[in-house]
Amino acid sequence: MSGLIEREHELLLLQSYKEGEQYIEALRNIAAFLEENVLPFSEEIDLGKRSISELRKSLFKHGLCSIPFNPEFGGLGLPFSVYVLAMELAGAADASIALSMAIHNTVADIINMYGSPEQKEKILPELLSGKKLASFALTEPSSGSDARNMNTRVEKRGDSFVINGSKTYITNAPEADVFLVFARSENGHVCLVVDRDTEGLEVGKNMEKLGMRGSTTAEVFFSECKVDSSSLVGKEGEGFEYAKSGLNSSRIVMGSICVGIASTAFRKAAIFSLERRAFGKSISEFQLIGEKIANMKLKINASRFLCFFASRMRELGMDFSSHAAQAKVFATESSLEVCDSAIQIFGGQGYTSSDVNRHWRDARLLTIGEGTSEILRILIAKKELAGLR
Ligand SMILES: Cc1cc2nc3c(=O)[nH]c(=O)nc-3n(C[C@H](O)[C@H](O)[C@H](O)COP(=O)(O)OP(=O)(O)OC[C@H]3O[C@@H](n4cnc5c(N)ncnc54)[C@H](O)[C@@H]3O)c2cc1C
Repeated sequence: MSGLIEREHELLLLQSYKEGEQYIEALRNIAAFLEENVLPFSEEIDLGKRSISELRKSLFKHGLCSIPFNPEFGGLGLPFSVYVLAMELAGAADASIALSMAIHNTVADIINMYGSPEQKEKILPELLSGKKLASFALTEPSSGSDARNMNTRVEKRGDSFVINGSKTYITNAPEADVFLVFARSENGHVCLVVDRDTEGLEVGKNMEKLGMRGSTTAEVFFSECKVDSSSLVGKEGEGFEYAKSGLNSSRIVMGSICVGIASTAFRKAAIFSLERRAFGKSISEFQLIGEKIANMKLKINASRFLCFFASRMRELGMDFSSHAAQAKVFATESSLEVCDSAIQIFGGQGYTSSDVNRHWRDARLLTIGEGTSEILRILIAKKELAGLR
């Protein structure tokens, strides 16, 4: 199956930028690479027959993670919206790879926004080229949605910070070279860059998951883990704000990954509906199947436009937190509905074939991770009501 680029991608870029043709070309390059090198292996990845690490390396080389960053640090200097569309294509090719790279990029984004010039110069080129893989370590066993209430502590001792505590469900942790760790000091929340080989840092076993099985996830433990004070990102006391800011952008990307997952499930189901026959005709001729096909397509496009809209707001320097949350809630929940319809259209094959049902299993994570749908609805309501007061 090919053709990850749709006419909506091209129209969005042409309508929004005078360099639209150039950005379409960049997207076409990425799509061609994904179609040839990633999409054909997605089922093997889900079944645990292939690791994502080599494919991820080749995607790093292809510039997927460097799209929105400054060329000074090895970035391509293209708009964030181009990155968001590229991550949709990555999600369409393989959701696990897209998730792993998106989390890695959230770390790069935070360092780019709040890191010192020295941190940017040292860390960003290694992250953008994929020389090092990053994890974002916020969630703890006792605090997920209520992340501000974290228990991991950090103490200033001389010229060092000493971390004690643990994190859980950390994507990429089993493979990561560097961790962006959020903890609490006597001065409030802090954000620290911690190398994997730092004494006192330990990573647990890769966790079993319902979907996104190619991505790795683990607990991370800190016991008297001592890092130099140059590891501090930004200011002591502001760490949680950096996490929130990184998550705002990352939520748009998670929405986009879900648009990609849904698009692949849609294409498979639409093709199957044309080929499968019942009662002497193609099942696509039944209006009840046609209704599903129409609803799937309209949810995909509406999700895509919401994600693109939120990413344009970020580019234009506007407050995009409510729109990012709206994009994530709508795109992730719509993706589940689309993937569920795909299973229904495939009938028994949908329930038994990993090649069909993994899309639903992959999408299922994303109404939970990076802000559950419940928490994001609370955020949207607060923002919208505050605007009316
Ligand atoms: C595969 C996977 C990968 C992940 N990757 C990362 C990662 O890389 N880095 C990281 O830091 N974290 C990661 N996470 C953690 C993820 O962000 C959290 O699981 C998520 O924020 C929810 O937290 P929780 O699991 O503790 O659930 P809880 O916060 O305990 O929530 C349980 C339920 O209660 C609901 N709830 C909680 N508070 C409210 C409220 N005020 N009103 C209404 N309902 C509420 C929630 O919506 C949810 O339905 C990952 C999780 C998974 C499963």
